Amino acid sequence: MTDVLIIGAGPSGSVAAALLVQRGFKVLVLEKQKFPRFSIGESLLAQSLVLIDQAGMLEAVQAANFQYKSGAAFAWRGKYDEFNFAQKSSPGYGFTYQVIRADFDHILINEAIRMGAQVRYEVEIVAADFAGSTPVITAKDKDGKLEEHRPKFVLDASGFGRTLPRLLKLESPSNQAFRIAYYTQIHDNIPSGAFDRQKIRVTTHPEFRDIWFWLIPFSNGLSSMGVVGDQAHLESRGKTFEERLWALTNDDPELRELLKNHKPFRPVGELKGYSANVSTMSGNGFALLGNAAEFLDPVFSSGVTIALKSAHLAAPLVEKQLKGGAVDWKKEFEEPLRYGVETFRAFVDTWYDCRLQDIIYYEKKDPGIKRHLCSVLAGYAWDQNNPYTGPKTLHRLDVLHQAVQKGM
Ligand code: FAD
Repeated sequence: MTDVLIIGAGPSGSVAAALLVQRGFKVLVLEKQKFPRFSIGESLLAQSLVLIDQAGMLEAVQAANFQYKSGAAFAWRGKYDEFNFAQKSSPGYGFTYQVIRADFDHILINEAIRMGAQVRYEVEIVAADFAGSTPVITAKDKDGKLEEHRPKFVLDASGFGRTLPRLLKLESPSNQAFRIAYYTQIHDNIPSGAFDRQKIRVTTHPEFRDIWFWLIPFSNGLSSMGVVGDQAHLESRGKTFEERLWALTNDDPELRELLKNHKPFRPVGELKGYSANVSTMSGNGFALLGNAAEFLDPVFSSGVTIALKSAHLAAPLVEKQLKGGAVDWKKEFEEPLRYGVETFRAFVDTWYDCRLQDIIYYEKKDPGIKRHLCSVLAGYAWDQNNPYTGPKTLHRLDVLHQAVQKGM
């Protein structure tokens, strides 16, 4: 009999599966797609390596020769600043990787299988009933055949599929504006030395500061690139996704120059209104991991890190509950997770209202403060020793912004 059924084999599902089999539970992961499969979200944060390491998967990830990532660079109208993760104020890894997610996600789930998790692909969860003492989960295989599972506990790691929030009507509006992203992968053909391939490059649009671009180089000569912004504005820039992405990219002289020799590798895709929230992250017999619970915004590459953190918080609580202990999921899961999520939310909100951009592009930043900001950009958003984390982050960024306006 299955102890824990996990919906989805993305990073949060794989790590949760590994942590639970390590605790002696029978884990079944049901994944609706066939792996390897494409996923957006290729730039990891240093904190994610700590979480991958603690799950026993770091060696496998390191063997894949992903692009080493030393930090994040920000560029706007000739201004440029770098945050080197090694200079962060928090303990933990000071580097990470830029990964092709099809490969990365496949490695993580294969690690979970190696540790003892059972995984079935092309099986989609279509119904869920938590009214009784045991959850009843209905899944559909690729031939349309329905099957019923009665696990002791369910973790929803279905990402943007948001399976349980949809089925149980837990979705609630996000406080983030409705934004849209155009994304692709290219042969970047950037001459060596013209650009630091060890960093994600975030470029603010020269004129419209709520529009930004990412450029994430991989180790194989490809780069992921994309643009994020207000829907009406982005859609006004051309008929096709390709036209819109490249019209916007060519607005920026530096990006235009960097990418002048690029060749397409994947068609341009579109993602709309991806920010999401839920009324609760847990209920009788289930908890929501990663993006199934909440997604803020891609600007600081926090998605995978939050997903992995949620798996690490949930696994010991599932163990406690299945061994007969009482778990207060709000206090023990949701609140600790939200500490870091709220940190990122404050960074995201002040990025779009430009206060954080003013701070990032300010040339005379105090080095001590920069180390704290760097820690959050490296993903250490749960480090309570960093004053720029937790519920006070917004206030502290506001005070910092005022100081920057006065010349610090
Ligand atoms: P996912 O990785 O989405 O995995 C969920 C899995 O569940 C999928 O394989 C899916 O097929 C499966 N599934 C869905 N529904 C069902 C069902 N009903 N039954 C069975 N299986 C199901 N994050 C970063 O860390 N760095 C970045 O640079 C970054 N860039 C981004 C850029 C954009 C434009 C966007 C929108 C997001 C970005 N993200 C980034 C976020 C990142 O992609 C996600 O946060 C991350 O993939 C979440 O992991 P997860 O495990 O929660 O879910």
